[in-house]
Amino acid sequence: MAIFNNRLTAEQYKEYFSDIHPPFETRDAALVEANRCLFCYDAPCTKSCPTGINVPKFIKQITTDNIKGSAHTILSSNIMGGGCSKVCPVEKLCEGACVFNLMDEEAIPIAKLQRYSTEKAIAEKWPLFTRKASIGKKVAIVGAGPAGLSCAHTLSREGVDVTIFEKENKGGGLMTFGIAAYKVTPEFCADEVNYILSLGGIDVKYNHELGKDISLEQLLKDFDAVFLGFGVGIARQLQIRGEELSGVVDAIGFIYAIRTKGYPSVAVGDKVAVIGLGMTAIDAATQAKRLGAKEVTLIYRRTQEEMPCTEEELNIAKLDGCEIIWLASPKKLIGNNGKLTQLECSKMILGEPDASGRRSPVATNETIVLDVDMVIKAAGQIPFENLIGETQLNNAGGKIVIDIESATNITGVFAGGDCVNGGKEVVDAVQAGKDGAASIMRFISFSRKGAK
Ligand SMILES: Cc1cc2nc3c(=O)[nH]c(=O)nc-3n(C[C@H](O)[C@H](O)[C@H](O)COP(=O)(O)OP(=O)(O)OC[C@H]3O[C@@H](n4cnc5c(N)ncnc54)[C@H](O)[C@@H]3O)c2cc1C
Repeated sequence: MAIFNNRLTAEQYKEYFSDIHPPFETRDAALVEANRCLFCYDAPCTKSCPTGINVPKFIKQITTDNIKGSAHTILSSNIMGGGCSKVCPVEKLCEGACVFNLMDEEAIPIAKLQRYSTEKAIAEKWPLFTRKASIGKKVAIVGAGPAGLSCAHTLSREGVDVTIFEKENKGGGLMTFGIAAYKVTPEFCADEVNYILSLGGIDVKYNHELGKDISLEQLLKDFDAVFLGFGVGIARQLQIRGEELSGVVDAIGFIYAIRTKGYPSVAVGDKVAVIGLGMTAIDAATQAKRLGAKEVTLIYRRTQEEMPCTEEELNIAKLDGCEIIWLASPKKLIGNNGKLTQLECSKMILGEPDASGRRSPVATNETIVLDVDMVIKAAGQIPFENLIGETQLNNAGGKIVIDIESATNITGVFAGGDCVNGGKEVVDAVQAGKDGAASIMRFISFSRKGAK
């Protein structure tokens, strides 16, 4: 057993990381699907979209070849509608709500149709939005992820001058640095960010980190309001013996390396165990397999009924040849000369429901031992507790507390996205950015502060 990189040929890397949901091959194929839509008057698809995209409208526009209109309908509700068409778990959102499911027929491929319009808009740089004249107000945004970009675009359209402070050298947040490359390529992420910024009025200061290069205090002095959209941090620790062994890695760091270094540079073990069964765990497991790991096993402490990922995501992992061990929780990591060799897990049973409403796992005395050379920790992410503590923001376990106006306890400071909800989906972060922008508009309009 060994951990090493460059396991595959260039062709294999290309094939294994190619688009998992390819687009329509022809216009006719898109039109056939668009014309199946019943254009329901109460549109359950729209109701189930956190950003409220008018799905029947954009699909109707496709049927009449009004692709610009269709892209405008999508992007005016969700400026990351292009990316969302590739990464949203639509089986539990719009497509899951499609009435065809009730008739045992295939749901309308809403995501694929959304991609059909938005991909053209982004590739051909259609100027679908204009910015109102400057209203002489300045807003600082921390984080150029989906929440920050959506907030920035909404504010800039209203004539606000926006400055985004981003600690990385690229925008997009986890869309660029987290989500699996076979769902959304780095090139598309860059194009989407550029498309959003092409509106104008948004200045991005890359390599600027809150808490290091800039302070909240200073931002409040220099700007009329601040929106925090800095997401959540690294994977939660397992807090078991052996966590320091070489071969034990954090899923976010592992995926970040895949997105930034290129596939051949990322080392992977022969026998990999991934702890957790959320989206991050699935992405880590499938990508470990696609990088050439011989065996990948997902370890989950509950059963399929309680799993956080969708069935569709689970099937991606299964089709990639990943194994799943249900009702098992890591107990000890065992090593030799500082290197991981085995993972010991407790067998679990399900007890009474916990705060999340799911039956809580209880350890039995029985254990299982797996031979592994790599363990990827993907059992949730930890908020940036230190940063939040330093800024005196009210928080619940590191998650920023906001009111219904997206406002924090500090006047003029608003927040949204993963740093508030602890980690949901891109579409939720986009909506949080829009909500934050709407509240900031009310705040700066009524604030007695003059323009700075
Ligand atoms: C591995 C993985 C896979 C996922 N897969 C999916 C998926 O398939 N579909 C889906 O919808 N969602 C998925 N998600 C969730 C989704 O990516 C997030 O919910 C979404 O990106 C949250 O957006 P955000 O803007 O709140 O935070 P982020 O995307 O995390 O963006 C925060 C930004 O703030 C910056 N930042 C952080 N700290 C500072 C600081 N101190 N100063 C300045 N800038 C800072 C970061 O660099 C980043 O650019 C996945 C998440 C992970 C981790």
